[in-house]
Amino acid sequence: MTFIEEKDIKTDKQTAMQEQKLQELLVYLSKNSPFYRELFAKHHIDISAVKTVTDLASIPTTTKDDLQQRNNDFLCVPAEDVIEYTSTSGTLGSPVTIALTENDLQRLAYNEYSSFSCADGSKDDTYQLMLTLDRQFMAGIAYYLGIRKLGAGIIRLGPGVPSLQWETIKRLKPTAIVAVPSFILKLIQYAKDTGIDINETSVKKAICIGENIRNTDFSLNILGKKITEAWDIKLYSTYASTEMQTAFTECGEGKGGHYQPELVIVELLDENNQQVAPGTPGEVTITTLGVEGMPLLRYKTGDMCMYFDEPCACGRTSLRLSSIMGRKKQMIKFKGTTLYPPALFDLLNEREEILDFVIEVSSNEIGLDQVLIYIVPSEISEECDHRIRAYLQARLRVSPHIKYVTAEAIQKMQFSEASRKAIKFVDKRN
Ligand SMILES: [Zn+2]
Repeated sequence: MTFIEEKDIKTDKQTAMQEQKLQELLVYLSKNSPFYRELFAKHHIDISAVKTVTDLASIPTTTKDDLQQRNNDFLCVPAEDVIEYTSTSGTLGSPVTIALTENDLQRLAYNEYSSFSCADGSKDDTYQLMLTLDRQFMAGIAYYLGIRKLGAGIIRLGPGVPSLQWETIKRLKPTAIVAVPSFILKLIQYAKDTGIDINETSVKKAICIGENIRNTDFSLNILGKKITEAWDIKLYSTYASTEMQTAFTECGEGKGGHYQPELVIVELLDENNQQVAPGTPGEVTITTLGVEGMPLLRYKTGDMCMYFDEPCACGRTSLRLSSIMGRKKQMIKFKGTTLYPPALFDLLNEREEILDFVIEVSSNEIGLDQVLIYIVPSEISEECDHRIRAYLQARLRVSPHIKYVTAEAIQKMQFSEASRKAIKFVDKRN
């Protein structure tokens, strides 16, 4: 059998499985979801006519606003069946509660089990989790459950405190870490400052969460390069959101996050809710499969990325997602250029003159986007100022406003609200 034929058979099976699960979902929603029952009635949707993934296009999309404003109407089970209440981080607007049943937690465990397996994980590994398991953070509990299912070791150390992270690495010898990439940089810096030889430690790989380590062409971005230049470890990126309860995780090839078609249907949509072609930016839109508590149908995540559908060298044939270019709502149209905050973060992370920063976007009097970057400079001097401005001008081709502040002031800006992570982007637009 040729590779192509094998791929076609796999694809046929996958399609049949998804269609079966989609029909089950539609029946389940019309019975149990106040929000979707109303939506089907309002738009005269005959769910028995929606048989294929292509037919999904006849159903209106669900937005983050729907989920925020009518959060409880998405719940499909009685309160006594809810086991875990998780919530979104609330980076954009008020947080949303996602309630999970026992089966949903099992599904979440399976999801991360296959994600960590995809990222070359096995029961021989020990993972040091450098993230919170508290504050209703779904990903924390998901990693924990997935790694348990894998049979690997777990060290729940929590976020921050590089000294304790290194002390634990030396003592318990984890083979892998799960961390935010910018924190890995802090770990590297701490090791340099205190004379730890990082390449002599037990850590061989890192599962990178929350921030990009690659550009959309899969090459390592500045953050990814900085890490791997200093530390000889393999990086695996993973992308997920609380609402979709499913992760897209890279295999060892590092060519995008692998899709798990048994857990979710993914569409990448343009402005008019039409599916985009491979290699074209679109909004990640998901339909959860097998979720009981709060299933979602054509939910627009707000995340912009691209997909690729040629088979991966690892043998998996399901499509892959590029790194997230940014949040659709955070798109900045600045003096004729389109920018997403992650690309700006990447530029600012690259320079040694820039110790820390916060980007603030606002609307000027005629409604155009204005960008102000608060920067903690490595030194207060005209020369340093000149280097920063020349660099930004060269890379952005436009000049943002810059305001130099102290490390203390930037800390206050980044942690002004009860937040799980540092806020580096402030959107003051109407
Ligand atoms: Zn692969």
